Amino acid sequence: MRLDLVLRAARLAGRESETVDIGIADGRIAALAPNLVCDAPAENLDGRLAVPGFVDTHIHLDKSCILERCQCRLGTLQEAIAEVAAAKRDFTEDDVYARSRRTLERAIVQGTTRMRTHVEVDPRVGLTSFHAIARLKRDYAWAIDLEICVFPQEGLINDPGAEELLIAACRKGADLIGGCPYTDTHPNEQIGRVFAIAKTFDLDIDFHLDFDLEPSWMHLDEVCRQTRAQGRGGRVAIGHVTKLSAVDLERLAAIGRRLAETGIAVTVLPATDLFLMGRGADHNVPRGVAPAHRLAALGVTCSIATNNVLNPFTPFGDCSLVRLANLYANVAQLGRPAELAQCLDFVTRSPAALMNLDDYGIAVGQPADIVVLDAPDAAACVAEVAPPLFGLKAGRRTFTRSPPVIHRPQ
Ligand SMILES: [Zn+2]
Repeated sequence: MRLDLVLRAARLAGRESETVDIGIADGRIAALAPNLVCDAPAENLDGRLAVPGFVDTHIHLDKSCILERCQCRLGTLQEAIAEVAAAKRDFTEDDVYARSRRTLERAIVQGTTRMRTHVEVDPRVGLTSFHAIARLKRDYAWAIDLEICVFPQEGLINDPGAEELLIAACRKGADLIGGCPYTDTHPNEQIGRVFAIAKTFDLDIDFHLDFDLEPSWMHLDEVCRQTRAQGRGGRVAIGHVTKLSAVDLERLAAIGRRLAETGIAVTVLPATDLFLMGRGADHNVPRGVAPAHRLAALGVTCSIATNNVLNPFTPFGDCSLVRLANLYANVAQLGRPAELAQCLDFVTRSPAALMNLDDYGIAVGQPADIVVLDAPDAAACVAEVAPPLFGLKAGRRTFTRSPPVIHRPQ
């Protein structure tokens, strides 16, 4: 068999009882079996976990790394939106490109190979951020598949000109459209307009939704109704949905079943939600993190994603999805091996399903997108926040991280 490279003795999530060799030819996985016989260059993984790269379904590259430009005193969602809206007025294409590149490169060295980035489009910033991210997408295609979701962060119906700009971005090649009904004076109308634009351009939809802890009403009801009415099941995702952390299990089960039946996927954003939610409490602070594992048990496709990096929404961030899987496990009180393995699934296979990626996975015929982690299995990877050691994109090495070295006294 003619191969360009063999990764020997890899362990794959869910099949950890044996090791396999991964044979790569022409940028694709050409063979997958124990003890492949060939004389291609080989790298021994010594039983380490190999994943098809991490999948980040929700990250704001355009407003990352602006913490030093903002004044944050309250730590509330309203303050974060206002501070970013003010900072956004000074964004230039080169500025957005430079900050986004810094964040994207950080994600690449953390093993992310697929990403959906949400880009703000409105009359203040125009298409400036969109153009910068479109350039970044082209420039980094060798390392990561970047999907651009344009959306109005500050409203649509209440923001004349925003809809025309969204449509212009869709004409110029935006991959999908998002919405943020909680900032609109007419939330349900915004939801309707987003569905209408998605229909015109045949795009998937990804909403910022139900981002508070008041469960007496939900925009989710209208998104479910429109998804059914427009026949867009399987092509709609919603992010945050922190209200779902504030409902009892009976109501959660009813909502989860409805989401699963309707074909609406959920992205949980633990870093931001933990930081912004529950600011009214000074003790017994609610966690405000939607229970992805309970929704997944009801058949909902769920992902855990980054959202914000070093800005007023989330003044943290190393772009590590392993760390976020661990953070979610910690907050959701998940510790058994199968539960930890599911948290890895929430940053790999499940978000790939959310993004309808059919070319993802370590299997013969798929692109050789492979990230090797310093862990023997999925549960240990999440429990120990295992560092990625190196990654391949279409068979080409894109990054390498050296393991730490201890210098003992002589
Ligand atoms: Zn977001």
